[in-house]
Amino acid sequence: MAQGYEVWGLVRGQANPRVRRVRELLGEVHLVRGDLLDQGSLISAVERVQPDEVYNLAAISYVPMSWQQAELTGEVTGLGVLRVLEAIRVCSGISASRSPGHAQIRFYQASSSEMFGKVRESPQTEQTPFHPRSPYGVAKAYGHHLTQNYRESYGMFAVSGILFNHESPRRGAEFVTRKVSLGVAKIKLGFERQLRLGNLGASRDWGFAGDYVRAMHLMLGMDQPSDYIVGTGVTHSVGDLVDLAFGVAGLDWRDHVVTDAAFIRPAEVDRLCANPAKAAEDRVRGAGHDDGRGRPGAVVGVRRARGGLVRLRRVVARARVPIT
Ligand code: GDP
Repeated sequence: MAQGYEVWGLVRGQANPRVRRVRELLGEVHLVRGDLLDQGSLISAVERVQPDEVYNLAAISYVPMSWQQAELTGEVTGLGVLRVLEAIRVCSGISASRSPGHAQIRFYQASSSEMFGKVRESPQTEQTPFHPRSPYGVAKAYGHHLTQNYRESYGMFAVSGILFNHESPRRGAEFVTRKVSLGVAKIKLGFERQLRLGNLGASRDWGFAGDYVRAMHLMLGMDQPSDYIVGTGVTHSVGDLVDLAFGVAGLDWRDHVVTDAAFIRPAEVDRLCANPAKAAEDRVRGAGHDDGRGRPGAVVGVRRARGGLVRLRRVVARARVPIT
């Protein structure tokens, strides 16, 4: 918004209790109704907002839940990408015989390092083959390939950012970084004595979510659409995180951490590490978002689409309407 964008968020469901939270946090974001399970609603949302850019960050994104609700994960995290792309295609009048115009809607898909799963090489690049280890990773791989396919089939400006784990104070408490930081705080303050965790041996390439959102924005400002790895290139284990967090509070984690089988996954992603060389090299050419059409861009931002976390979706719009 600081860059002159008008931001729209997609919200689903009747009397969605999260709308109030979004309003508190992001009062200037406009909201439009829609659901990734409902093709017509997405077409209506795109028609209403008339976006310049769409960011699909919506997903069921908590990996353990993807085993419990595998079909729903496929529908939302996988087929949801198809429905957003189709909404853009239909509203733009794009077909096999009709290419996008110069001022086409640009599309960003939130791909995930979970697609690499049982990694074939380390660090991972844009060329590393996928071997997902969860229904979530499988669904993300579908969305990734589909985004590439729409780019190749229709000439759409559709790109994927393969983002490694990105964290902030707004991260959901079920994810390990917030679970650990909140758990340490509760123990330090005397509210809890134990922190129950799963696999301490897994390693992740953790970065700051705010930086990664900036990377998404730069990707849509490139001259040519292309997919990018976004990560730090530095990996730590969950055990390192635990040791550090308890240490900051002056505590020894061995006195408090209990391994609980309930948090061990059916199949684990053992170690992720990004090679972000391509993004680092190309980033300087990010052209910004002056689309030359004399009107501000906007973002449709959604704090999560279904059942999960905050997700931002971004679109540019003319109208200023509250929720409809
Ligand atoms: P993910 O990488 O997207 O699955 O992000 P998470 O923060 O949920 O998990 C990161 C890693 O922490 C995974 O390898 C988990 O197996 C591991 N982990 C260990 N204990 C826990 C736990 O109690 N909760 C979660 N969420 N992850 C845990």
